[in-house]
Amino acid sequence: MARVHNFSAGPAVLPEEVLAQAAAEMLDWRGSGQSVMEMSHRGKEFVSIAQQAESSLRELMGIPSSYKVLFLQGGASLQFEMVPLNLLRGQPSADYVNTGEWSRKAIKAAGAFCNVNLAATAEDRNFTYVPAPADWRLNPEAAYVHYTANETIGGVEFNRIPETGDVPLVCDMSSNILSRPVDVSRFGLIYAGAQKNIGPAGLTIVIVRDDLLGKGQPPPAAMMNYKTHADADSMYNTPPTFAIYVAGLVFHWIRKNGGVAALEQKNAAKAALLYDYLDSTDFYRNPVAKEDRSRMNVPFTLRDSSLDEEFLKGARARGMVQLKGHRSVGGMRASIYNAMPVEGVAALVEYMKEFAARRG
Ligand code: PMP
Repeated sequence: MARVHNFSAGPAVLPEEVLAQAAAEMLDWRGSGQSVMEMSHRGKEFVSIAQQAESSLRELMGIPSSYKVLFLQGGASLQFEMVPLNLLRGQPSADYVNTGEWSRKAIKAAGAFCNVNLAATAEDRNFTYVPAPADWRLNPEAAYVHYTANETIGGVEFNRIPETGDVPLVCDMSSNILSRPVDVSRFGLIYAGAQKNIGPAGLTIVIVRDDLLGKGQPPPAAMMNYKTHADADSMYNTPPTFAIYVAGLVFHWIRKNGGVAALEQKNAAKAALLYDYLDSTDFYRNPVAKEDRSRMNVPFTLRDSSLDEEFLKGARARGMVQLKGHRSVGGMRASIYNAMPVEGVAALVEYMKEFAARRG
């Protein structure tokens, strides 16, 4: 069967080249006579795979040497808890910005560990925009400021890095990491689940500034302590070896394709293709403020929601899958991560036009 255009929000489409290479190396990784899945994580083959993945990521994101890169498990959801456990450093409160479903989950998790100061919220307009940083009520005594760079469900994305002075900035970049250049030195900590722009589910990337390590008060249990993983080069226990290997292949693919800056151009063009069409018709609608629209996740509704099932069925028949919106918002959502080719977005827009002409 031909491969589909997969608009899933995650786990999501991976570059076909990467899958082909992983398949070609499945039984014998580069003359080792083994699959990566079968290797000891402490053997020299796998250690070289992990080191290469880390150095590629450092190069792609320009990660300063004063930051550790950790390859963890537990998803971004575990980071909702590891962040307060490690970064409160004995302080009673942290600032959070609420831009939608994922920030809300992070806030709820943090509430078990500290006073959460809601520095800003987009609730008044149903989470369809990013509150202007000038209006944030930041607490200068906060242990850190947390925000979600891209709301995967609502389709709201920050276009700028907030300014928080000396208070460490913490960011959930799960659904837009590597989609645009970012200045890592502006952050205390960045985390991201891998299953959107990086690789297979099961791997979570944490990038953390050295001075924030080992300050959890009381010290977190070993597995919950970033320092444990940093001191052990992410091999305190068995890491998700195959996921790290595939992530390394994806990093290589990004480098070969011009790096993150080149990807940003492609992502901006793909998103424009879809939003320009959405704005040209009243058959479909995207509720997000134009300047805050996500380049990665594009939710939209049909004017007549009774046509949703027919729309999805027609899309599937044309090889376009996973367009159903999140259960909490309904409608449709097209996730167009790094690995989604422009042809996929063009095919979707063509189909949307055709469907609107037929049923409008
Ligand atoms: N944050 C964001 C922005 C997400 O999109 C997701 C997953 N869709 C999560 C956190 C939770 O990630 P995980 O399922 O890896 O715990």
